[in-house]
Amino acid sequence: MSARARLARTAAPFRAATRTAQVLIVIGTLITLGFVFVATLGPTLAPFEPTQYQVDPEEPEAGQLPRLEEPSSDHLMGTNRDGFDVFARVIGGARVAMIVVLVSTLIALLVGVPLGLLAGYRGGRLDRILVTTMDAIYTFPSLLLAIVVAFLFGELFAPGVASAASAVGIVYIPQYFRVVRNHTLSVKQEPFVEGARSLGAKERTVITRYVFFNVVQSVPVIFTLNAADAVLTLASLGFLGYGVPPPAPEWGFDIQQATQDITSGVWWTTMWPGVAIILLVTGLTLVGEGLNDVINPLLRARGLSGTKLRGAPVGGSAPEASGSRRGPDVAERDLADDPDPPGATTSTSSGPDGPPPAARDSLPPTAPVRSATAGVEPVLKVRDLRVGYRTPRGPLWAVDGVDLDLAPGEALGLVGESGCGKSSLSRALLNLMPPGGLVTGQITLAARGDGPGNEEIELVDASRRQLRSIRGDRASLVFQEPMTRLDPLMRVSTHFREAIKAHRPDLSSDRVRELTETALAKMGIPRTRVDNYPHEFSGGMRQRIMLALGIVLQPQLVIADEPTTSLDVIVEAQILDILAELRRDADVGLVMVTHNLGIVAETCDRVAVMYAGKIVEMGPVEQVFNAPAHPYTQGLMASTISLETTELHSIGGSPPDLIDPPGGCRFAARCPAVMDRCTEVIPRLTQPGDTPVDDHLAACILHPGADPADPFPAERS
Ligand code: SF4
Repeated sequence: MSARARLARTAAPFRAATRTAQVLIVIGTLITLGFVFVATLGPTLAPFEPTQYQVDPEEPEAGQLPRLEEPSSDHLMGTNRDGFDVFARVIGGARVAMIVVLVSTLIALLVGVPLGLLAGYRGGRLDRILVTTMDAIYTFPSLLLAIVVAFLFGELFAPGVASAASAVGIVYIPQYFRVVRNHTLSVKQEPFVEGARSLGAKERTVITRYVFFNVVQSVPVIFTLNAADAVLTLASLGFLGYGVPPPAPEWGFDIQQATQDITSGVWWTTMWPGVAIILLVTGLTLVGEGLNDVINPLLRARGLSGTKLRGAPVGGSAPEASGSRRGPDVAERDLADDPDPPGATTSTSSGPDGPPPAARDSLPPTAPVRSATAGVEPVLKVRDLRVGYRTPRGPLWAVDGVDLDLAPGEALGLVGESGCGKSSLSRALLNLMPPGGLVTGQITLAARGDGPGNEEIELVDASRRQLRSIRGDRASLVFQEPMTRLDPLMRVSTHFREAIKAHRPDLSSDRVRELTETALAKMGIPRTRVDNYPHEFSGGMRQRIMLALGIVLQPQLVIADEPTTSLDVIVEAQILDILAELRRDADVGLVMVTHNLGIVAETCDRVAVMYAGKIVEMGPVEQVFNAPAHPYTQGLMASTISLETTELHSIGGSPPDLIDPPGGCRFAARCPAVMDRCTEVIPRLTQPGDTPVDDHLAACILHPGADPADPFPAERS
């Protein structure tokens, strides 16, 4: 890239900023640079030393005593009561102020930002200790704290610019800490952070590339506002006599020395240092506000009309700036303050949060699990999977005892109402749980050919390192809400580079670029758009980018969680075609999580119907949809709307409380066919009907063999 092109690219964010931001930043920068210039070249600019007494030429002997002199050609801003040239003092004061601002904000930044990042991301005891400490400092009146620290430093070391700067810096550490920590807490829950983790990014990469760069977006504003505040604090310290010791030039001290001049009509001794303070504070504030708009492309997008976006979308829905929507549901968010570090999924088969022994003993034996391609070694094998969350009332098991097999190239639809456990199951398949998540059971990913890293692996017991190496390489999770799954601050090419390099660190940049362009081209994204930001794409294109990210390394397994939600029907059809092609051409096992039965009918070989954390019916799509055997599936089918629908139907009631689920069949309270026996036993999956169809299973005691007291149909015969 030529120097000219590089310059144009660097200047692009500024050109794309709003007119107001451009004006703010130009004015603020000019003012601030003016002070930097004055502070740097001050000694050569000033006609006198700031501490040089100005002797009255008419009274040489007595002139050893200074006198106040009005502004004149000799003294542009006059002289002060101490006989110093005010212009020289203002210039000298600028130098002191700039040094204090730089050193103090650097101290606050270097201490406050890393601590805030660590506390927010790690959480737990470290977070509580740091928050308590910072809150204790923060509750202290800042000026009083600055005075105490300046006094202590002055006693311990020596009063001077360094002590004043350190005092001011320590006062602002809690502010950086609080802002960065709170922002980290929020950003680490963002879908694109979860997306990065799902693609196998290392924890250090997640913190430094995804969390840090989003969190530091707020730092320029805090920096400049605190820098402006630091100027005021320094002046206050000087005014009260605790700042830089005299006769060093300092604006606050000079104003304090001149307070008695005001009543005697001497205006110049207070006015010029005051104007200097106001100008510098204003300049720094304007720079901060303007920078924030320029640096943050998301804010920039919000300030632009669609027509001003570079490379306007060529298809799909209208561009939409991603907001602050969160991926995890309410239950997950409530657990955000859990002391466990992110992703610390408990994977145990017993323990305080594990299933009570009595309850486990009462679980029914499961029926044999078969896939549509029986006889083929499954790419994914799930046994007795339980997925839960810690809550103040005890563990909530969102998935409770699920068995699944998925063959290579097979597509399995997971359907059910909101809250039935579909999304929890899909996340648990990659052990990608939020803080406080619990996973027990077995999830086995089959071997992928030979070679290290491709062997069969048990995901529930896998280490973080193993999980990272699997995610995004051998198995991918494609989320819903594509608007929020891509980091708004990273170009699409950077997302791909991060994902590919996490698993293939030795690949050259050219090869990474080639893989990126190939994967995007498959999704119909032209190579000219590879370096665009996510907000420059339509919703449909972003979803295709997410899919391309998920398959760029040719995984064995793709889990698509509502991949077409919020997309229009044309884009939805494109995405479904791409998924079908993927299965056909690359033999990828696909788990499609959706509430849309039409999508399942179109895309999947088999379907599993979930209710209250359990699979209540499973089988070939055609069989289940044409002859549903479980009353809940029958209700779901009756609730779908078609051209023939003349009357709307819904399933009455609501799902049970999963923290304290009812005994027996969980659908009993809503089931039109409920019997006394239904509340006494937990039905097991069995082949329904007199002429059972291979792989068709339902958990309802209306069918022989579902009551744990009955033998399985096969055993009966
Ligand atoms: S077991 Fe009973 S309550 Fe449950 S679905 Fe069957 S008939 Fe209804």
